[in-house]
Amino acid sequence: KSGFVAIIGRPNVGKSTLMNQVIGQKIAIMSDKPQTTRNKIHGVYTTPDSQVVFLDTPGIHKRQSKLGDYMNQTALGTLGEVEAVLFLVDASEGIGGGDRFIAEQLSKIKTPVMLVMNKIDKIEPPALLPLIEEYRKLHDFAEIVPISAKLGSNVDTLLDQIQKYL
Ligand code: GDP
Ligand code: MG
Repeated sequence: KSGFVAIIGRPNVGKSTLMNQVIGQKIAIMSDKPQTTRNKIHGVYTTPDSQVVFLDTPGIHKRQSKLGDYMNQTALGTLGEVEAVLFLVDASEGIGGGDRFIAEQLSKIKTPVMLVMNKIDKIEPPALLPLIEEYRKLHDFAEIVPISAKLGSNVDTLLDQIQKYL
């Protein structure tokens, strides 16, 4: 099994941290120059029976210009062609305008979207379920997976869930 998974999310939600956890520092192809090129490969995750290519999707942002328009179109094209989309959010900050904007864009594609609620190490456990209910209103997510990319918590579950869509 193999496939492409696009990662989207506003800045600082933990996309690079997650890729470091999944791929490992040494071979991760980091992309910390946002919006200079599009559809960069973030990294490739390989197991004995599967391969997942993670793509960075920096073009999704609030529209400010004709160029921004074009980049949104390009990013949406990518999201429409991959096996699954990982929508990363910072669960410790809650839903922001940037998250809502991305969720609006996601309504234009048919690709399964997995909501990855990151930074759960920063929230009190009882706050998690109500927060999940809030996020659920944004989009009909295929999966909702709470993780801590920094601590590596539940990242194995996320990788298991991704396998379903390959
Ligand atoms: P990106 O802009 O989406 O690539 O975000 P980064 O991976 O650069 O992370 C932004 C900041 O959030 C960094 O200071 C990370 O150390 C921090 N961060 C990322 N994931 C977590 C997490 O699970 N828990 C906590 N507490 N901090 C995190
Ligand atoms: Mg980054």
